[in-house]
Amino acid sequence: MEKTGKNYRLSLLENIKEAGRDTLHDRLALTGSEISVNELPAGVSVPFVHAHKMNEEVYIVLEGKGQLFLDGEEFCIEKDNIIRIDPAAARCFKADDNSTLKFICIQTQANSLNQFTENDGLPVEVKPSWLS
Ligand code: ZN
Repeated sequence: MEKTGKNYRLSLLENIKEAGRDTLHDRLALTGSEISVNELPAGVSVPFVHAHKMNEEVYIVLEGKGQLFLDGEEFCIEKDNIIRIDPAAARCFKADDNSTLKFICIQTQANSLNQFTENDGLPVEVKPSWLS
């Protein structure tokens, strides 16, 4: 189900099975980040090494095991690992030969966050039916 409201968009992962990658920026009209959901089949590597101009990335490994190349170092990653990578770092991911590697990548401009969690949240008066 896709759904758009005044202050939200709800969408579905579409390309993850077909292209191995689904980017959400346009579909969700993201304004402060890019988020992608990625799936590398067993034994498959991202075919290039990359860095960024301005954006840091956070990778959240959802399933599987793999290898991360990071500035010349190679190490194992697996489900439940979360990794923040500075923009300038050279990075590349590969799934282990016997494991699909599924991960979310959240890209945001480095040093752009001014406030978060309780410093940005506001209490409001409206309530859902389950909070009375
Ligand atoms: Zn990147």
